[in-house]
Amino acid sequence: MTFPPRESLPKVMLFDLDDTIVDYSRLARESWAEVCAEFSAVGATPFDPVAMVTTIKAVSDWFWSDEERFRVGRLDLDEARRTVCRYALERTGIADRALADAMGNAYARKRDEAYCLLAGARETLEILHALEVPLGLITNGGAEKQRGKIGRFDLGRFFQLIVVEAEFGTGKPDLRVYRHALEFFAVAPCEASMVGDNLEWDVAAPQALGIQGIWHDYRGTGLPEGTVVRPDRIVRSIGELVGLSPHD
Ligand SMILES: [Mg+2]
Repeated sequence: MTFPPRESLPKVMLFDLDDTIVDYSRLARESWAEVCAEFSAVGATPFDPVAMVTTIKAVSDWFWSDEERFRVGRLDLDEARRTVCRYALERTGIADRALADAMGNAYARKRDEAYCLLAGARETLEILHALEVPLGLITNGGAEKQRGKIGRFDLGRFFQLIVVEAEFGTGKPDLRVYRHALEFFAVAPCEASMVGDNLEWDVAAPQALGIQGIWHDYRGTGLPEGTVVRPDRIVRSIGELVGLSPHD
């Protein structure tokens, strides 16, 4: 492993977790397809599994598009998933709460089992750790899920500060989260960077305080049309931050 010079890196680096370090979204649709296939003939009224995936996707998009539902829902993700299933079944004319709960729970299990680290993520953290760069992990969501991922991949040892929305009492893009990180590390905003996949939470919010906002464009789609957010830097993989090529 070749290490970049320490002075080429920010004094403190903050990281998002999901879709920045942990591969979180990739298997969402496949997991729904598996759940719908498994449960299509389980209830009193069978359903078309392919059509149900489309319905669930539509309900899910509607559910998460509301800011307040999103805020509450992400703190109890499994309950939100059961609710999405209940609404999707109801849209199809099936009122079966037990079936909805079973589908939501099965989906949650699949997603939890499918998590893995993004390519190059562990190597990047190892390098930054070896260079003694102070690192903070700033993640939204419930304590159990987020701490579960941190423990499962033994990520805790890399970070001096871990802020989980449910434990801290508020989450990104609330600037209190970033102010807390700056105070914890006792650095000026210009000495810190934040890396994440969410343009509002991980880039625009820290930039509002003067922290460098680095966008993790893990899908490689480029900035969405119409966005006013201008990241200080865009990376396809966090490995680029320490000079790793996508093949390392
Ligand atoms: Mg994320």
